[in-house]
Amino acid sequence: MYDVIIIGSGPAGLTAAIYATRANLKTLVIAGSKWGGQLMLTTLVENYPGFPEGIQGPDLMMAMRKQAEHHGAEIVDIDFSNADFSKKPFSIVAGDKTYEGRSVIIATGADTKWLGVPGEKEKIGRGVSSCAPCDAPFFRNKNVIVAGGGDSAMEEALVLTKFATSVTIVHRRDEFKASKIMQDRARQNPKMKFMLNTEIAEVLGKDKVEGVKLKNNKTNEITEMPIDGVFVAIGHMPNSNVFKGIDADKEGFIIVKDHTKTNIEGVFVAGDVHDNHYKQAVTAAGFGCMAALEVERWLSSQAN
Ligand code: NDP
Repeated sequence: MYDVIIIGSGPAGLTAAIYATRANLKTLVIAGSKWGGQLMLTTLVENYPGFPEGIQGPDLMMAMRKQAEHHGAEIVDIDFSNADFSKKPFSIVAGDKTYEGRSVIIATGADTKWLGVPGEKEKIGRGVSSCAPCDAPFFRNKNVIVAGGGDSAMEEALVLTKFATSVTIVHRRDEFKASKIMQDRARQNPKMKFMLNTEIAEVLGKDKVEGVKLKNNKTNEITEMPIDGVFVAIGHMPNSNVFKGIDADKEGFIIVKDHTKTNIEGVFVAGDVHDNHYKQAVTAAGFGCMAALEVERWLSSQAN
């Protein structure tokens, strides 16, 4: 029987594990066969505090994992299959094993939605990115495209204007989904350009991004545009649909009450699986810390 079972091993899950073990809680992390979360897919992380020269995403995650293990967390690299939150203790199935926990922290994160067009996947980290705050400085004096029409696309584009020569937002419809204030901010920036009714059909280039093939979906005209970077900002998919009985919003983000609590007592949540706003490694780590502190308090209240 574990005091807490943490499902997920990104910055939220592993930070929760560090705090839980240091609070002397018997802690299990269901890390998944591809442990570590989104940072395992990135290269240089320059905005995680404590690393003045930056750190490679996988190195950062390995350091977090070692820290959690050092304090006594048990980490299994097995994929989560299902959870029974209908009775206590909670039972969590991963692979062919069932684990029992007095409490659970869901920290399964979110996956970036990618365009799914030819040439995109293999150039992630080579000109294709989903995080302007992370990668914008690599595009100093370059020309970039941002795909999307929501607030994220506007925000990513505005971050990029601090470095890039030009930033073109490419959006599939004739109007943006973004809030008016964000649209106004983008429109007022002299580096910004806009292409509406346009879809990215292909990312071009051999080893790195060199251009895009664009399709005007009104005229079906295909054009090619030389470009140095493609930022994809079309939303995230939270990994929440495997949890039965946990309330989520219409996009699947788990609904949080009182900081880190879900609708089921004893089940807590941390990181991108509930946070559709900040979506940063450091904020996910912060949520992991909060969830572990809340678990500790809740378990103590149960004991009395
Ligand atoms: P949204 O879901 O709001 O917007 C996604 C955008 O991407 C839409 O314009 C959508 O097009 C487009 N899109 C989706 N799928 C595709 C596809 N396959 N191909 C091309 N385009 C696609 O997500 P965001 O990440 O922008 O925002 C998420 C939440 O975070 C929102 O609530 C937002 O307000 C908030 N946020 C707030 C910020 C702020 O206030 N500073 C900053 C960033 C985010 P279509 O319009 O046609 O559906």
